[in-house]
Amino acid sequence: MPNSMRYCQTCRLQFDKRGFWRHALSVFHRKAKLIRAMLERNCITHAEIARRIGVTRERVRQLALQMGFADGRSRHAICRMERRKKEMAEFFVEAQKRGFPVEPLGRKSAYINGKICVQRQACWHDIGKGKYKYTYLSIYRPTGRFDFCAWKLPDGRFLILPEELVGFTQTTFNPKESGRQGTDSSSHYYREYIERWSLLGRPRRAK
Ligand SMILES: [Zn+2]
Repeated sequence: MPNSMRYCQTCRLQFDKRGFWRHALSVFHRKAKLIRAMLERNCITHAEIARRIGVTRERVRQLALQMGFADGRSRHAICRMERRKKEMAEFFVEAQKRGFPVEPLGRKSAYINGKICVQRQACWHDIGKGKYKYTYLSIYRPTGRFDFCAWKLPDGRFLILPEELVGFTQTTFNPKESGRQGTDSSSHYYREYIERWSLLGRPRRAK
């Protein structure tokens, strides 16, 4: 293009110098700029952009095409994938990092190596009173089907138990090494199962 011509990156249009300045101040350009910013986020539909800017959906579709964005259907698929990944509970993200194949079923459940795994939260639980007060971690049996359950501990580690070992509705355990075994309900030595990823089989690739 000759030196006197200017190109608008946003609208992908070419102007002479005077036309460019007029364009840069125009409603058309300002709208296009807003539309571009919104198109960069995959989770806004063309219809929603159209509604917010006050143009037709067809106009957004045309601009998106002109600006080189994916079409509406692809955007929706990308959005779904991004959302699912973002929402995937930490256990599955961690499993993925360790090289396990993870297929999300929901936010807190997924197939890992073909086994149904769920994530739950462990919370602190006080037992006893006064100087006999002890704090244990409390875990609940998940409702619904699962092969493995991983409870996220407050320190960020995971307690991983196979379904056979989850013969309780609620139980407590001591996450720390101590001489005291605790009360009946807290005497399980589940801490041996903390971060026991080997229960899930072998990762697809070593990391
Ligand atoms: Zn422009």
